Amino acid sequence: MQYADYLRSVPKVELHCHFEGTVRAATFADLARRHDITLPTNEVAKLYDYETIYEFLAIFGMVSTTLIDREDFARCAYESLEDGVKLGNLRYREMFFNPTLHTRRGVPMATVIDGLVDGIRAAENDLGVRCRLIADVYRQDPPAMARQMVEEVLEHRRDELIGLGMDGAEAPDPPEKFVEAYQLARAGGLRLTSHASEDAPPVNITTCLDVLGCERIDHGYHIMSDPAVIARCRDQGIYFTCCPTSTAVVYGWPDLTTHPIKDMVAAGLAVMLNSDDPTMFHTDIGREYVELCTALDYGPATVRGLVLNGVDATWLDESDKAAMRTDFTDVLNRLDAELASSSG
Ligand SMILES: [Zn+2]
Repeated sequence: MQYADYLRSVPKVELHCHFEGTVRAATFADLARRHDITLPTNEVAKLYDYETIYEFLAIFGMVSTTLIDREDFARCAYESLEDGVKLGNLRYREMFFNPTLHTRRGVPMATVIDGLVDGIRAAENDLGVRCRLIADVYRQDPPAMARQMVEEVLEHRRDELIGLGMDGAEAPDPPEKFVEAYQLARAGGLRLTSHASEDAPPVNITTCLDVLGCERIDHGYHIMSDPAVIARCRDQGIYFTCCPTSTAVVYGWPDLTTHPIKDMVAAGLAVMLNSDDPTMFHTDIGREYVELCTALDYGPATVRGLVLNGVDATWLDESDKAAMRTDFTDVLNRLDAELASSSG
C-alpha cells in the first residue's frame, strides 16, 4: 500500500467545509443552463480558474446564484458528500452554509434548509455518510441581518441543523460585530464556532471564545504570534479546524512545508484537517491529507492524532463520539497493519 493511498483511506471527519464551495463544476454548468444563467465560459474545466481572491469570490457568488430550487440544494449537498466519501473516506461532516447568500436573492430559508436536509438524508441512506449543518454569519452583512438570519434559522430548524459559524473577509469586520446574533443562537440551543485569525491578529480568537462563546476556532493560524493565546487554547483543549490548500492559495503559504499548521501541531494545539471549499480550490478531503502529511513528513501516529482530534471536536453527543472513536480506531489499526506489511 502506497502512503498516499493510506492517507486517502483513513476514515475522516470534516468540520470546516462550505456547502457553496463544494459544488461540482459540471453541476454548476448544468444548473446555470437550467436556470438560464450565462457563465463566463462554456468550458467546464475552466469554470473554477481564477487568478485572485476577488475573482474567486466572484465565482463563489455566481455558483450561489444557480442554487434556486429545493432540488438544487439537495442535489449539490448529496454530490458534495458523495465526493467526500469517494475521494477521502469521509464518514461524518458538520457543513457550513451561508443562508443570507440565498435569502438575499429571494430564495426562502425553508427551501435552502429543506433542500440541504433532503440531500444529506439521501446521502446517509445511500452511502452511510452522516452530515450536520452549521449556518454561517457572513461578516460583511450588517449585524441586524445576521440577527434576522439566526431568527429565521431557528424558525426553520431541523434536527440536522446544529450550529452557528461565521465567515467572509475577516480583517474589516471583527467578530464582536455579531455578538447579538451569537447570543440569540446560543439561547436557541445552537453550538458555536467562527472563522478567526485566518487573516487577523489572535485577539480575534480571544474575542470569539470569551465574547461570542465559541467552542471551536476555524483556521486560527495567526495564533502563532501570541504565546499567551497558544497556552490558553492548548490548556483548554480548543479544537482548530485547519485547511491546508485554501490557506496556501488565498493567504500566501504556497509551500506546505512552512504552513502554520506545522507550528500549531508542534505547539500541542488540537488541530484537525479540512478541505474548506474543495471543488473551487481543486482539492478534496483525501488530497488535503495526502498533500499536507507528505509535505510535513507526518507518519501514521501523527495522522491518527489528526483524525481522532476530528472525532473529538464534533458536536455529536458523547456516546456517539465514543462509538465513532472505536470504529475509527479499528479501521486505523487495520490500515496501519496493511501499511507496515507492504513496506516491510
Ligand atoms: Zn472556511
